[in-house]
This record gives sequence, C-alpha cells and structure tokens, in this order.
Amino acid sequence: MTLSRHRENVPRMSLPEPLPDCYEGDPDLLPPGEARRRIRAHVRPIEATETIAVIDALGRVAARDAVSPMDVPGHTNSAMDGYACAGDSLPRDAPRWYEVVGTAWAGRPFAGPAVGPSQAVRIMTGAILPAGADTVVMQEHVEADGGRVRIPPGNRPGQHVRRAGEDVAAGAVVVPRGRRIMPAEMGLLASLGVAGIEVRRTLRVAYFSTGDEIRAPGEPFEPGLVYDSNRFTMHGMLGRLGVDVVDLGIVPDRREAVFDALREASARADVVLSSGGASTGEADYVKEALHALGRVGFWRIAIRPGRPLAFGLLGDSVFFGLPGNPVAVMVTFYQFVEPALRAAAGEADPRPRPAVEARCTTRLRKKPGRVEYYRAVLERDEAGALVVRATGRTGSGLLHTMSDANSFIVLPEDGATVEPGATVEVQPFFGLM
Ligand code: AMP
Ligand code: MG
Repeated sequence: MTLSRHRENVPRMSLPEPLPDCYEGDPDLLPPGEARRRIRAHVRPIEATETIAVIDALGRVAARDAVSPMDVPGHTNSAMDGYACAGDSLPRDAPRWYEVVGTAWAGRPFAGPAVGPSQAVRIMTGAILPAGADTVVMQEHVEADGGRVRIPPGNRPGQHVRRAGEDVAAGAVVVPRGRRIMPAEMGLLASLGVAGIEVRRTLRVAYFSTGDEIRAPGEPFEPGLVYDSNRFTMHGMLGRLGVDVVDLGIVPDRREAVFDALREASARADVVLSSGGASTGEADYVKEALHALGRVGFWRIAIRPGRPLAFGLLGDSVFFGLPGNPVAVMVTFYQFVEPALRAAAGEADPRPRPAVEARCTTRLRKKPGRVEYYRAVLERDEAGALVVRATGRTGSGLLHTMSDANSFIVLPEDGATVEPGATVEVQPFFGLM
C-alpha cells in the first residue's frame, strides 16, 4: 500500500496479541464478549487534537480535563422574583409588615446598607442577594402596599436562594478527558466562561457495499438485482456517531475491485467498513484481500443474526467486514463496530449500551450456544409494567423488522427457547444525544 496519507494522525494500532482466525479449521464459534475484547485490544484512540469553539463541539470528544476557573453561580442569588429579607426575621405566627428599602436586579445589585430585621429588598430572579438577606419570599406570597410588603408565616429561612458554587465549585473537573460533548457539556463549559475546548480530531470512516447484484437506488431494476440498503443504514448509523464519512459506493465481486476498494479506503480513513462478500462463497473476496493487504481476524461469532464478521488491520486503519444481510449489518454494527468507533474517537471507557429487563409476551425460539438478537418493541402494559415482544419474523434480510423495532431482545448464549411470560434482557435503541 503506497498511497499518500491524508492524515497526520490515525488511531494507532498496537498489536498486543495476534488476531486468531477461528473461521476455518476451528469449528468453535467465538463468543461475542471475546470478539469485543479482541477488537478492543487492537483499537487505539486518535491522538491528534484541535481546539474549537464550544458552540461547534457537539458530539466531539474532550481531549483533556476541563477544570472550572470559578464558582457557578459566581454569587449567591435569588431563584425567584420576590422580596429578600433576613431568614431569622420571618414571622412565625402572624403576618408582618416590612419596609421595602430598594431593588436588586439581575446584573444590577442593591447597593444600600445591610438589610435590617424589618426591612426587605425587592429582588428579581438571578439578582445577587443583598447584604443581610439570606431568604427570598415569592412575590405571589406577599401583599404590597406602597413602600411596604406584608409577609405571611410559613416561609423557610434560606428558601429560593441559589448558593455560590452550588452548580460547580472552582477547581472542579467539569468535563473529563474522553467525555463526548453533549448539550449539557456545551452549556456547562459556557457557564464557566469557556469559549474554546480541545477535542480529538474527528474520526474518518470509509464504507462500501459489495455484490454484483447490488444496485444503487435510482438505477434500473431487473430480476435478480437488489437495491443497496446497507450503505444507507451505515451512513445513518455513522452519522449519529458524528464521524466524517467517505462513501466508496458499490464494489463488484471481482478480486481486483475488492483489493482496490480496501486500498483506497484504508488510505482515506481511520476505520473501514464493508458489507457483503465476507462469507466463503466463490465470489467472496473480502477475506482473501484482507489476508493479502493486512492482518486478519476472521470469526464466526456465536450470534444470530450476524456471523461471520471479519475484523482486521489494514495498514494504520481498522477494518470491519460486515455481513451482507441488511439486519445482520445493523446488529453487528451496534454490537461490535459502534463500541470500537467510540474507543477510536477517544471516548474513555465507552460503556456498553444500557439494558433493561422486561416480560416477554412472545415465544422466542433459541438455540443454546449463541447469543440471539431479536428485533423488538418495548412498551408498558396497562399496569405500567415493561413488556416486550418480537417484531415478527427473524430472517436477517427483513429490514422492516428493524424499522418496526425500538429495541433488541438479547438472549444469552446458554439460554434456550423463551416462553411467553419469561423475563428477558432488552437493549433499547435511542439516539446518541
Ligand atoms: P453476501 O454476504 O455478499 O453473500 O450477501 C448476503 C445477502 O445480503 C445476499 O442476499 C445479498 O444480496 C444481500 N446483500 C448484500 N449486500 C447488500 C446491500 N448492500 N444491500 C442489500 N442487500 C445486500
Ligand atoms: Mg455478496
């Protein structure tokens, strides 16, 4: 591979262990947890960083700890529009009149002397609490009359006040290195007066479909042809992860074409994904190309749908050869590729997708010895309990079953057929942000 590198920095592949190939010669299926572990051991985060405006940082990964230079809020202030007074002057039994000695506005503090026991200051939300005051009484709860207000009993000393530093204390780590910046982090950084943040370079992912029968939507249809859906699902799944994508189109089932596509993809991207051509049929060249161009871990994973999955290193790039069947593409992407992309993007300790337990209302056929992913609908029954059902037939080409679903049911390796009423593990689908 002698292509010019467009990248000064790529995810570094250390090679702590060989990539054992258990597809041929080894009849054992690789457990999915072991496949994930092997993938993780070969993916290193991108090292290049850049400093960008916080407003542009959505979905980016923090390259270093962001430490607060100040308390937030910076001053103890009012959480309500009302009247500020001393908490120990509040009436216990009967209403009491207070003299209103001034007004505190957000951004324009009350400048007078400390508030006395029978005095109050008109105060707006966000205004600094005047000296001598530690309590705010809501304006709806007082009776105002000229320069006086009548405060009833029932108020609590210290109420409706936001303390300095109660959100973030000066010196605290507010956004740790490796955290993906979400809307809350954007606001948090802005609340500290931080305008720029150092983030990792955006990961670049190239992908293509393979197959002589595959045609792009818009091309004429003939018997035996199949419209390409995998590039579209891959594009969508990648888009939600905030990576830059390089779409290399549809590659025919010819040896040189597959070789060329892998060469170009690995020169242009940090991670390469293909779909199809990864079995051991006559026209399946992905495995051969990987052997010739890079290092191969080619596994039959003990899952359904989804095996086989090719994983390997192509020069400095990480490669995933996904199955051709559209549902299998999505299952293997979410189960294996997404965690690897998060790690490569620099996310620290990318957590597995959270799972919930729910009562299953359908019968799920299951063979022991493999993890099975059913497309499912998770909802609440009339009593409010979580229930889940499969979205119909299980064929790995039936993409509408993914569209109908809002979750995967995950049946463990050692489990057998599930009868209605049994509790199962469910992975809800949800957006990244
Ligand atoms: P393969 O792994 O190449 O043998 O493909 C397995 C099945 O998935 C075949 O029925 C293919 O026609 C189908 N398939 C492969 N690639 C795509 C694609 N990009 N879009 C839709 N179906 C596909
Ligand atoms: Mg094919």
